[in-house]
Amino acid sequence: MSKLIYLDNAATTQVYPEVVDAMKPFFTEYYGNPSAVYSFASEANKAVTGSREIIAKALGAKTEEIYFTGGGSESDNWALKATADAYGDKGKHIITTKIEHHAILHTAEYLEKKGFEVTYLDVDEDGVVRLDELKAAIRPDTILISVMTANNEIGTIQPIAEIGKIAKENGVLFHTDAVQAFGHIPINVDEMNIDMLSASGHKVNGPKGIGIMYIRKGIKINSFIHGGSQERSRRAGTHNVPGIVGYGKAIELATTNMEDRIKYETELRDYLIERVLKEIPHVRLNGHRTDRLPNNANFCFRFIEGESLLILLDQKGICGSSGSACTSGALDPSHVLLAIGLPHEIAHGSLRLTLSEKTTKEEIDYTVDELKKNIERLRKMSPLYEDFIKQAV
Ligand SMILES: *Cc1c(COP(=O)(O)O)cnc(C)c1O
Repeated sequence: MSKLIYLDNAATTQVYPEVVDAMKPFFTEYYGNPSAVYSFASEANKAVTGSREIIAKALGAKTEEIYFTGGGSESDNWALKATADAYGDKGKHIITTKIEHHAILHTAEYLEKKGFEVTYLDVDEDGVVRLDELKAAIRPDTILISVMTANNEIGTIQPIAEIGKIAKENGVLFHTDAVQAFGHIPINVDEMNIDMLSASGHKVNGPKGIGIMYIRKGIKINSFIHGGSQERSRRAGTHNVPGIVGYGKAIELATTNMEDRIKYETELRDYLIERVLKEIPHVRLNGHRTDRLPNNANFCFRFIEGESLLILLDQKGICGSSGSACTSGALDPSHVLLAIGLPHEIAHGSLRLTLSEKTTKEEIDYTVDELKKNIERLRKMSPLYEDFIKQAV
């Protein structure tokens, strides 16, 4: 098989052809600056408004509560830094979790250097935040709770409505990084008491470099990017019109067939999980068995390195991802896998496979067959595995 089998949809997704078609006219034809007064620009302006309406509707938000940004990382930075800036007089305590994306974690660490105190909540072995621990962490000076809707590595979905309720009852603002969730599972900002939400185009078959922040009306946070008066003076910079149009189209497509897609992906994901757990020894599934993103499977295989497995899979045209990222010579296991209680040596053998609605059963079968072969191959080379086998007999 020389075909590409793309199973890294949590890293980024294909931009759908319908999305590209919707974007095209805004490069060459309607290239006017939407802030201009002449009528030539009105087409671009209308398109930006149209996208904002689609995205607001999909979240159950008001149109004027949606702000376009340069992506998920920017929105996460904005939410934390601007809340700290605007509400710092009220208190200097922020609550988040140990399993957030680095866009949240590194921003929180930055704020710690600026005099804020951050509580990083533990999660249980499935990666779920414990609500009693959240409640116990809230103090009179807590200004913000930031908990991701769904985890990008292990796929676990958090009890967002319950967290929103706790935040509201305690008069604390609630932000959620919904980059992996928006467009993939239903979200409603009112029902879930969400005050701020980050999302990104390229995780949902839209273009890269475009995102949104939802900010509930009445929340007084300022601009993060200073300059012109775009986005109701809250996010300066000439609108990325093709990006905004593409993101709107992607969300329209995602919400129109969400039910069918969830069903298809969930069935295929469960088929993958069942085959792997049944046919490959010394494996564990990471993340919650059912409260997980429809397209996410994450495993740890003992006695192997995730990185080595990825290289072998790549030779077979399979794109996956491993939690362990090789940084500056030191191999650090994923902070998420450590937070769910895995020892380093197990966390190193992780593999994340994230499907799409275009992934086929044949691709999954081929992938599992290759996994079996290559894991066996790697284990044969592992001294740890050799010792283990010797001890077993
Ligand atoms: C990808 C991702 C981000 C960053 O989004 P970008 O648009 O790539 O900046 C933030 N949070 C989560 C959970 C993500 O998966």
